[in-house]
Amino acid sequence: MHSRWRFRKPLPEADLALARQAQHEWQALREAERLACYQPAIPTDGQRIEVVANIGGAVEAEQAVIAGAEGIGLLRSEFLFLQRADPPCEEEQFEVYSAMTRALNGLPLIIRTLDIGGDKEVPYLCLPAEQNPFLGVRGIRLCLARPDLFKPQLRAIYRASATGPVKIMFPMIATVEELLDARAIAEEVRLELGAEPVDIGIMVEVPSAVLMAPELAVHADFFSVGTNDLTQYVLAMDRLHPSLARQADALHPAVLRMIDMTAKAAKAAGKWVGVCGGMAGDPKGAAILAGLGVTELSMSIPSVAAIKARLRTQSFADMQALAKRALACKNAAEVRAL
Ligand code: PEP
Ligand code: MG
Repeated sequence: MHSRWRFRKPLPEADLALARQAQHEWQALREAERLACYQPAIPTDGQRIEVVANIGGAVEAEQAVIAGAEGIGLLRSEFLFLQRADPPCEEEQFEVYSAMTRALNGLPLIIRTLDIGGDKEVPYLCLPAEQNPFLGVRGIRLCLARPDLFKPQLRAIYRASATGPVKIMFPMIATVEELLDARAIAEEVRLELGAEPVDIGIMVEVPSAVLMAPELAVHADFFSVGTNDLTQYVLAMDRLHPSLARQADALHPAVLRMIDMTAKAAKAAGKWVGVCGGMAGDPKGAAILAGLGVTELSMSIPSVAAIKARLRTQSFADMQALAKRALACKNAAEVRAL
């Protein structure tokens, strides 16, 4: 084999020592973060940020708690519907959701209703092929069109809400009417079951939802910004595109300005706003989001300890100043360089 690497000169001892030291320091830092993972994320001047986890599997609720998460900010319920021959029944869903509330032992669980379509395909639903699936019948659009899928899921969620603090979150809301229609179906299901009301929030991941945030906030108990989709829709760059995906950076000021508008609208309506896209688990992104007034950050389990530690090192006032500077930048690279 002609490999130029085979004949590479060994690294000088000094370089190896430096690399070993860097590795040692990195491990020590991770260990310190792990040991502090159950302490809350309170910046040095006192405003607590809730750090919760995104999960997409039955056993992950427990893993999230072990990793220091203060609840689940996004349960991607699609996992129950994928890689099988038919949809899960109400009972199966109830079993899974209530097992999660037991594992969470009083910590909150936000269940996102089915977000199929776009990149997530389910063959047994026999959905027609679409030329632009990310702009097609996905998320709440599919649920409104398919009450046979939506209602059993809502029934399972309301039943599980008797076993622990559960909230409902609708994905891909683009219009006020969609939220009202989805809420009406949820209320019908709730009354059928005689269940107690639960908070109902929406994912803010479509530009129209940002622009209509003041109106949506009237009917939503909370917002959670899905920066993965919001970034692709704001920048018009497919999140799976082989060459564009790298440029689709959630730290782009255009996306940050959208989050700023959402946070302001939520605050004016007395509602809270979280972020559950990948940006929440990016240390720089987390600090900017906190500075924009986001009070709940939901991220993949391995990021929890590091983000909590990161948020404890700075004051809220500094994060607000950082956010202000980020909003004034011209591109994502400038934001990252701050
Ligand atoms: C998002 O869009 O940011 C999000 C959290 O949802 P998903 O990645 O599942 O589309
Ligand atoms: Mg999304």
